[in-house]
Amino acid sequence: MAYKLFVVGIGPGDLELLTIKAKRAIEESYAICGYSTYIQQIEGLIKDKTVFSNGMGGEIERVKKAIAFAETGNTTSIISGGDSSLYGMASVVIQLAPDWIDIEIIPGITAALAVSARIGAPISDDLAIISMSDLLTPWEVIQKRIEAVNVGDFVCAIYNPKSRKRDWQLKYALDSFFKQRGDLWCASVKNCCKEKELIKIDRISNFDYNFVDMATTVIVGNTKTQFKNGNLITPRGYKVV
Ligand code: SAH
Repeated sequence: MAYKLFVVGIGPGDLELLTIKAKRAIEESYAICGYSTYIQQIEGLIKDKTVFSNGMGGEIERVKKAIAFAETGNTTSIISGGDSSLYGMASVVIQLAPDWIDIEIIPGITAALAVSARIGAPISDDLAIISMSDLLTPWEVIQKRIEAVNVGDFVCAIYNPKSRKRDWQLKYALDSFFKQRGDLWCASVKNCCKEKELIKIDRISNFDYNFVDMATTVIVGNTKTQFKNGNLITPRGYKVV
C-alpha cells in the first residue's frame, strides 16, 4: 500500500497560478486538508473529495489529520497558500510524519513573487523576506533581521505585516529603513491575484498604514529602486542607454 502525502503550495489565489504538478496532486488525492480560506480557493478542483478544513490556530491538528488520512493508505494533500515552505506547513509535516509515509513537497508561487510581478520588477536584486508576526518568532530576532536588511541594503518583502491585534511592527520596520537608508520606494499589494486586489505604490514618507492588513504584502525597495511608468524596478546594473 502507498502512503503518500503531498504538501502542496497552491499559489497566491488565481487558479492559473497553480502549477500543473500541484493540480495533479490535488486531483490524485482522496483527502484534502487545509485552512478554510485556501480550501475555498481551490473548491473547483476538490469536487467530492474528503475534506478536513479548520481555522487559524488549528495548524497542528490539520497536519495530524492529513497524516492520519495518509496512514490509512489514501493519497492525501495538505495545502498551503503560496508556497508550502515559506511560513507554511511543509516543515511541520516533515517533523510530525512517521518515516513510512512518502512526503512530496510541491512548490508554489509565493506572495513575494506574485506581488513583485504585479508592480513591475522590484525584486531584481538580492531580496530578504521577513514576517512581522512575533507569534512564533521573538520580536528581538525580528528586530535584528530588520537591521540586517539595512546593513545589506536588501530589497525586502514583508509578510504578515499587520493584524488587528498586532499593529505597530510594520511602522517600526519602515521607520528603521527610513532612518538608515532614506525615503525608499515601497508598495503594498492586498489580495494579490484575487478578485479584490488593491495596489498602492509610494515612498515610505507617504506610506498608508491604514491600507495594510493580513491579506497584504509590502515590498520595500533598496536605495537603487526606481519608479517608472507606474512600475517599481530595481536595476540590475546593465547599461540600458
Ligand atoms: N505561504 C504563503 C505565506 C503565508 S504567511 C506564501 O508563500 O505566500 C501569510 C502572509 O502572506 C499574509 O499575511 C500576506 O503578507 C502574504 N500573502 C499571502 N497571500 C497573499 C496575497 N494573495 N496577496 C497579498 N499577500 C499575500
